[in-house]
Amino acid sequence: MYLKELTINGFKSFAKKSELGFSSSITAIVGPNGSGKSNVAESFRFVLGEQSVKSMRGKRGEDLIWGGSSEVARGNRASVVVTLDNTNRVFPVDFTEVVIERVVHRDGQNDYLLNDSVVRLKDIQELLASANIGSTGHHIISQGEADRILLANAKERREMIEDALGLKIYQYKKQESERKLQKTEENVAQVESLRREVAPHLKYLEKQIQKIEKSLQLQEQLKITYAEYLKREDVYIAYHHDRLLAEKRGPEGQLKLVKQSLEEAKIQLRKSEAKQEADVLLEAEEAVQLVAKARQLAEREQSKCEGQIALLQRRLEEQERRNKLTSGKAIPYHDMKSLIVSLEQQVEKAMARDEVTYLQRTLSDIIHRLKLFLERSEGVSDVGVKIDKEEMEKLIIELKALVKRVEVATADETKARQVYDEIAQKRVQEATDGREAERAVFRFVGEVRELETKLERIDRELSILERDRAEFKQELQEAVALLGRASSDYYTYEVKNADGQIVSEVEVVEEPRDAQRTRRHELEKLKIRLEELGIGTIEDVIKEYKDAKERDEFLAHELDDLTSSITKLRELITELEMKLDEQFGAGIEKISSEFNHFFTLMFGGGEAELLRVATKIEESEEDEENKKENGFIPKSSKDGIELSVKLPNKQVRGLEMLSGGERALTSIALIFAMSQVNPPPFIILDETDAALDEANSRRYGDMIEALSAKSQLILITHNRETMSRAGILYGVTMGGDGISKLLSVKLDEAVAVAK
Ligand code: ATP
Repeated sequence: MYLKELTINGFKSFAKKSELGFSSSITAIVGPNGSGKSNVAESFRFVLGEQSVKSMRGKRGEDLIWGGSSEVARGNRASVVVTLDNTNRVFPVDFTEVVIERVVHRDGQNDYLLNDSVVRLKDIQELLASANIGSTGHHIISQGEADRILLANAKERREMIEDALGLKIYQYKKQESERKLQKTEENVAQVESLRREVAPHLKYLEKQIQKIEKSLQLQEQLKITYAEYLKREDVYIAYHHDRLLAEKRGPEGQLKLVKQSLEEAKIQLRKSEAKQEADVLLEAEEAVQLVAKARQLAEREQSKCEGQIALLQRRLEEQERRNKLTSGKAIPYHDMKSLIVSLEQQVEKAMARDEVTYLQRTLSDIIHRLKLFLERSEGVSDVGVKIDKEEMEKLIIELKALVKRVEVATADETKARQVYDEIAQKRVQEATDGREAERAVFRFVGEVRELETKLERIDRELSILERDRAEFKQELQEAVALLGRASSDYYTYEVKNADGQIVSEVEVVEEPRDAQRTRRHELEKLKIRLEELGIGTIEDVIKEYKDAKERDEFLAHELDDLTSSITKLRELITELEMKLDEQFGAGIEKISSEFNHFFTLMFGGGEAELLRVATKIEESEEDEENKKENGFIPKSSKDGIELSVKLPNKQVRGLEMLSGGERALTSIALIFAMSQVNPPPFIILDETDAALDEANSRRYGDMIEALSAKSQLILITHNRETMSRAGILYGVTMGGDGISKLLSVKLDEAVAVAK
């Protein structure tokens, strides 16, 4: 016995707390018309979670609350409590008693309590479904509703039967899974859209990372190329510098001595008798010395000027290359933004003043500021280029002048030498008598010239070397700017040949200069490529990329999880549908045969059965989807239930052709059949027997007794026969105050009360 107690308080006509115990398997509730019997049945519906107020004969929730009478004021809440036994753990909760309470307030709010804890309606429904007390109320047959199951359409009937078969729990699970599936699909869409959103940024960052990798590679290459170049250049310059200085030392010393001897020879010559002739010669020689010095000076200056031009040229080329890279380069966002903000403020301020002159001033100021901004954005480099170009022009003019000067000086020297040579030649012919002093002068002059030529050559080489050194220094400066400390790596760098063997200093020095030029060209190319990559702060990009990548991976992972739960949910739904279909099919067969059994019992013959028919829900989209997703259309989602009955000795086949009594008997047979297959803990029948004649009332009574073996019965009745089968009888009365009252009665009293 599951049903233990019902407490009604403030519900409909039960203004005061009324309690009903159900210690018998059959309880009858009797009383005169309008006393409130049906209200008891409705209080059951109410507490079991009925959501349709209409099915409890009300319009709004508050119709269920005691409405008041001339003597007793209306109530503010209605509460019904049902106590169910759970010693057998029919309900999947760890209580020996399940106490369900539902309260409705005047504002229409409902509270549900399970063993005094507030719960959701859903929790109550699931709990009841697990004990085969479904919400379609197949086990509560209201007054005049006995043939509800006959009137229902095939689909509704199917639902009632599903409920009776205890399949509602699967339906709930299925609905829950479908709801989850929908939510999961929404999540998938959301995650996918998130991934789509971050994808372009991620791609951009990936490209940046590739650039960074490329740039790091280039930097590595640049480092090596620089080390190779700088090392070789350093060795080359040092070696040749030392060599030339050493080479210079001998001739310099000699020249000093020869010049001294020449001076002495000249003094000697002046002292000689042919003084006048000697003077001519010496003057010619001194003139040569003078112009030669002028030429040397001009040449030195020319070489210096050329060196300066070469350096400047390189700087300009470099600058030009940079400018090419920066043209079309974006102005930093923050610079632009702060400019706009500040201009906005200025304009707002000007507008507020509303003075033409002030506005004009502001406009011209804005233009000035914009120009300035542009200039600044173009960079200081342009100013540098301008200065360098002016300098270059000056140097070129200077160089031209110097070339001219060298030409003039060379011409002068040639002329002076010719004069000297002519005199000297004449003297040599004349002086066959061997004038010592003169011969000495000639010899020394020749030696001086020879030595000076030698030294000039060395000086020229030295000045070229100086130029190389200046270029080396400039290159080193650039290396420092580009590579930082790594630029000094060349100190310890070991030059190797193609076979990886360390190359000697001499080999380095003897390498043709073209190779170094190629290396320098290579350096330039590397620098350009590096600048073209133009990446921001590497660490920031890497961090941003890492974050974005991690987030994307997280989303991908989430997507995997979601997709796999979609698959699982779909499998579960298919499984549930199959189970539903299977159990429904088996249940229907059983109910059908029980139906036939009760029907033939009631009518003393005939035939009755349940038929599965395709409902009018045509090949729906839902089916199409089911087919696509599961490759299976669950029958249960399609079939409805029809009844087929054949009365004994009558040609009646359609339900609508049955008499009132016949309809009552048929529906009773079906209700009983349903409760036989899967007996609910209790069944409430509100005057189901109203239309039965005496003979049928007896049969009805017999069947009730048979039924009570499996389900508790609560019968609202006016029928004496039915009353006689009850173990407990409750009488309901209503006095002048309009309040229903309950009392336990004996059969005789009951018969009297019912009247
Ligand atoms: P019958 O034997 O004729 O079927 P019954 O005993 O089943 O009658 P009910 O239909 O249960 O009687 O009771 C109806 C009575 O309940 C009516 O008198 C009605 O006024 C009263 N009633 C219904 N709702 C309320 C309410 N909210 N407040 C007060 N009384 C109510």
